[in-house]
Amino acid sequence: MHLPAELRMRLGEIFSADSFAVGETERIAYSHDNSRRHALPDAVVFPTDHAQVEALVQACRAHQIQVIARGRGTNTIGATVPIEGGVVVSFERMNRIIRIDPDSRLAVVEPGVLNGELQQALFSHGLFWPPDPSSSAQCSIGGNLACNSAGPRTVKYGSPRENTLGLRAVAGNGEGFRCGTYTSKSSTGYDLTRLLIGSEGTLALITEATLKLTPKPSAMRTLRATYANVDAAARAVVRIMAQPVTPCALEFIDDVALKLAHAYGGDSVPLAGALLMIEVDGEADTLDSAVEAVCAAARGAGMQKLRVAQSAEETRALWSARKALSPAQRTISPNKINEDVVVPVGHLAALVNGIKQLSAQHDVLMVSFGHAGNGNLHVNLLPRDEDERERAHACLADLFALVLSLDGTLSGEHGIGLLKREFMPLALEASTLQLMRNIKTAFDPDGILNPGKLLP
Ligand SMILES: Cc1cc2nc3c(=O)[nH]c(=O)nc-3n(C[C@H](O)[C@H](O)[C@H](O)COP(=O)(O)OP(=O)(O)OC[C@H]3O[C@@H](n4cnc5c(N)ncnc54)[C@H](O)[C@@H]3O)c2cc1C
Repeated sequence: MHLPAELRMRLGEIFSADSFAVGETERIAYSHDNSRRHALPDAVVFPTDHAQVEALVQACRAHQIQVIARGRGTNTIGATVPIEGGVVVSFERMNRIIRIDPDSRLAVVEPGVLNGELQQALFSHGLFWPPDPSSSAQCSIGGNLACNSAGPRTVKYGSPRENTLGLRAVAGNGEGFRCGTYTSKSSTGYDLTRLLIGSEGTLALITEATLKLTPKPSAMRTLRATYANVDAAARAVVRIMAQPVTPCALEFIDDVALKLAHAYGGDSVPLAGALLMIEVDGEADTLDSAVEAVCAAARGAGMQKLRVAQSAEETRALWSARKALSPAQRTISPNKINEDVVVPVGHLAALVNGIKQLSAQHDVLMVSFGHAGNGNLHVNLLPRDEDERERAHACLADLFALVLSLDGTLSGEHGIGLLKREFMPLALEASTLQLMRNIKTAFDPDGILNPGKLLP
């Protein structure tokens, strides 16, 4: 317990007894996230409004005590692990949807609202917020913004950076501020909203967000195409993205992943050189022509079979390969290493073929699947024992080098956190990193916000 007595007293003034915990049970509960890393915080607080967050940061700054923002701890990169102790700020009780304005297509929310709760509230308005991580039932909007988390729909609708109008936040200097607008256009100074998105709680604590909403299309169709090999599938991705009907999901699964999924899920999972799952949305009366345009682009040399689901049941059946993949991987390797690298779409084939070479060279099972329309692949390394685990870690550096040589980057949606920050100097020039450090100092002069994350 390292909290100075004076700070402890001050926190007792800011927070009611049931919103300020220093007991071991609570500290253990908030010591880890989905990265499986852990470190004990000195205290956990549960603010219910912006003023409390401001008072908290000012008090912690006066005592040089670290402040770690936390949504629901579902991130996979150790981004909420309090590696130097300090105070974990759990936003789970700042969970109000303040207003939904269908006319201006925006929602104002507190950061602790779950992504899934927001989508449900928007449903009756015929609107949705596009970022759709598959953890949406468990993860918070604050976490989504801080990691720029996304999902399959990003290919058509964008990530939190493209779907957030403004923020209210408290910087590491203890000052509250607003950035962005309530408007869909703005050319009023630096774009601090986009800067805070993806900053992993290292610049400011977000206390309110104004989100840009999108009308929900009334119809959707699911397609599944198999290919003789990765190159044929990658060429199809390029063709699909080069025509005007952008699908709302364009997901890739490589042959190794298909074999695993087939062994786990049975014959409903096709065996092929590669597979694309495609979803096309739009209005019911124009959807047929949109689907035909995407089908035409999906067809080409190396395509084996193209199926278009005609019912909800068939749609579920087509997704069986993707559904079987996660449990299939867990069966083989409970401690899989899960990366989410990105390359320009034109380099997708080179990436997947390069991954196959790395898998052979390091003798570690690797599968690639994910958001091909953005060139964002989940590359999972599946070590089965300690030897393989060591080899997998050695392989990681080669994987990142490959991605960077293809003009790609380290992460498309999971973020950097604790686990990838050592690789940042590979991805960014020293001068770029220095500018980032200067920005960090402007927001957080004493470096109390989420230390040890993102910047090397
Ligand atoms: C089963 C599963 C599936 C997943 N699928 C996806 C997926 O499809 N796509 C994807 O992108 N991710 C996915 N994730 C990762 C994870 O769900 C996302 O990163 C999510 O956005 C994290 O939200 P959270 O509320 O759990 O935030 P946390 O994990 O608690 O925090 C994440 C980061 O946000 C910061 N933060 C949280 N709240 C605030 C705030 N109010 N102000 C400032 N900083 C804050 C934290 O400090 C930390 O840096 C998945 C995770 C799991 C376990």
